[in-house]
Amino acid sequence: MRAVVFQDKGDFRVEDVPKPSIARGSDVLVKVTLGAICGSDLHIYHGHTPINPGAVIGHEFVGTVEEVGAEVRRFQPGDRVVSSFYAACGHCYLCRRGWFGQCVDKAIFGHGEYFGDLGGGQAEYVVVPLADQTLERIPEGMTDEQAIFVGDILATGYFGAERAEIQPGDSVAVIGAGPVGLCAVMTAQLFGPARVFAVDMVPERLRLAGELGAIPVDGSRVNATEFLKAQTEDHGVDASIECVGHVSAVETAIDCVRGGGTISMVGVPSKTLWDFPLMHFWLFDKTFRSGICNVPAYMRQLLDLVEAGRLRPEVIISHRMRLEEAEEAYRMFDAREATKIVLTM
Ligand SMILES: [Zn+2]
Ligand SMILES: [Zn+2]
Repeated sequence: MRAVVFQDKGDFRVEDVPKPSIARGSDVLVKVTLGAICGSDLHIYHGHTPINPGAVIGHEFVGTVEEVGAEVRRFQPGDRVVSSFYAACGHCYLCRRGWFGQCVDKAIFGHGEYFGDLGGGQAEYVVVPLADQTLERIPEGMTDEQAIFVGDILATGYFGAERAEIQPGDSVAVIGAGPVGLCAVMTAQLFGPARVFAVDMVPERLRLAGELGAIPVDGSRVNATEFLKAQTEDHGVDASIECVGHVSAVETAIDCVRGGGTISMVGVPSKTLWDFPLMHFWLFDKTFRSGICNVPAYMRQLLDLVEAGRLRPEVIISHRMRLEEAEEAYRMFDAREATKIVLTM
């Protein structure tokens, strides 16, 4: 089969690799119909994520069930499915507490041997382990493009919004309007805020955020914190959702929030260590939360919200390309010529 394969830093290639087959009773073989390129794939591309040469890339995908293991209960060949970007065991203490993202046996698709040695979704086929909880069925009439993001970035945006503790009437700032930030803009509105601001510097992202109901704030023209305070009688917004991970964005997310407010960080941290402003948090009664999305806990509800027309995640897709064009797609995504690229097989 054809697949995007890691060769070396900055070198992804579309190659022939052996078609995977199911090994365990809980496995499902999925024929991939659509895969997406994610910011985490760029971390691999740049050599920031440890990975073995030959690993198949891709953790955002939808497809059709081709074959099911003997223990699989929820799926049959022919079902259209979307996958969580990782598989969790379902029976460890953390899974039983509903924290699948903290599973002691978590394995991530398309991240090679060091992250559980699963296949990737930027390929014609992928084996999905523990399929009854890793996959969700796509509702009839829903397109692949509408469904694909519930397995990663839409769930992450929602997770960030939920943990921001938004109350009806609140003002919210989303820091960073990349794919995850745009998903946070969409999902934050489910909690009933009066205003959602979206801070970014890229005109196209700001335009899209505006289309999705946010008030765009161009960080290249104004100081975002000062602007947000000026919009809120100088006290700051009630909550912020940080979707970048760079220290400067985290600082903005902290500074723009009022006393007693909440900062919810879902951006991947660009540094492992940083001087946490302890006194600031103590003095201003602020709450700081961060984390990796607990994806399987949200997929069903998000699919229902998309089906009901309450969320339109597909609007963030900027480029549709073929799997065979993946090398060019990565070049474009890396050069920020594309907001979100999906690959058809
Ligand atoms: Zn991703
Ligand atoms: Zn577990």
